Amino acid sequence: MKLIDSHGRTINYLRLSVTDRCNMRCFYCMPKEGIVSKGHDAVLTYEELLLISETAVKLGIEKIRITGGEPLVRANIINFLGRVAVIPGLQHLALTTNGLLLPEMADDLYKAGVQRLNISLDSLNAETFSSITRGGNLKKVLAGLDAAEQAGFPPPKINCVIMRGVNDTEILDFAEMSLSRGNSIRFIEYMPAVKEDNWQRYCISGEEILDRIAARYPLIPIDRGTYCGPSRDFSIPGARGSIGIITAVSGHFCSECNRIRVTSTGQAKGCLFADANTDLIPWLRPPNREGLAEVLKGIVSTKPERHDISQDGYTHSNFTMSQVGG
Ligand code: SAM
Ligand code: SF4
Repeated sequence: MKLIDSHGRTINYLRLSVTDRCNMRCFYCMPKEGIVSKGHDAVLTYEELLLISETAVKLGIEKIRITGGEPLVRANIINFLGRVAVIPGLQHLALTTNGLLLPEMADDLYKAGVQRLNISLDSLNAETFSSITRGGNLKKVLAGLDAAEQAGFPPPKINCVIMRGVNDTEILDFAEMSLSRGNSIRFIEYMPAVKEDNWQRYCISGEEILDRIAARYPLIPIDRGTYCGPSRDFSIPGARGSIGIITAVSGHFCSECNRIRVTSTGQAKGCLFADANTDLIPWLRPPNREGLAEVLKGIVSTKPERHDISQDGYTHSNFTMSQVGG
């Protein structure tokens, strides 16, 4: 079965958030203060998350990415991942993490059946890293990268949000990691998720990022993978890893969008920046598989053609990324 939206896009990818809590406080993702984590009753149980995953896969979802908040801070996450990994028909299970807990958890994640890890890492400089994450420890994340490979994972993909005046001097250092360590690097444009005056000052377009890399290295466009969605990918000759850009703000990425999202409180979203959510709770409590399948199909069929954020006039989204899962 295939899920095709009303604009002809095949939807094969679900981003599933399992918590809105996090052990870091990246300034572009969470406000400094005033975050009230959802109570236990508001957050979906693992049974409910599993029901959503199974129903989505039956409808045509082939890839599930587990995200958060920080997914590794949720208790018993390994057991849950092991149950998702064996859903019949699921082709690909991935997880996005800030990497802090990987030194102790990478082995168990691998054994549970997670196939691929994305690690968010915006600076290779300890001070800049600590300032972006409001106190995060770079050494631990780098140890997490190593632990992932020692556990058997392919070199993790690095998600790197590039912000002018914050970490843009490190673009080439990250690009170089695709050569020296074999990591694939995903450069993500800064998105206005947290209220911040004059947020446009941080914006660097994906094109500028590519230009800066191309001034140093030849960049060869590479084939788009089945699940890569809006990313445009390139490689430096001789590199094991690729270089991708996600032009969420500047660019025309909506036509390639292949995903839907479900938050840890059961809010389904057809578009990251859409204000409208669909509350799945009525089909989860009590569980109603047929009803849930119909609602998920509805989210796909009403998926907007494109988002309307741009650098002009937009202030910020009405949710934080930690609530939606990026
Ligand atoms: N805690 C995990 C992590 O950091 O990888 C998973 C959740 S995090 C919300 C998922 C992704 O969203 C991260 O790669 C993060 O960099 C990205 N993200 C969060 N806020 C963003 C923003 N304002 N603009 C661009 N990307 C953002
Ligand atoms: Fe936490 Fe990830 Fe958001 Fe950073 S980007 S605050 S690590 S959820």
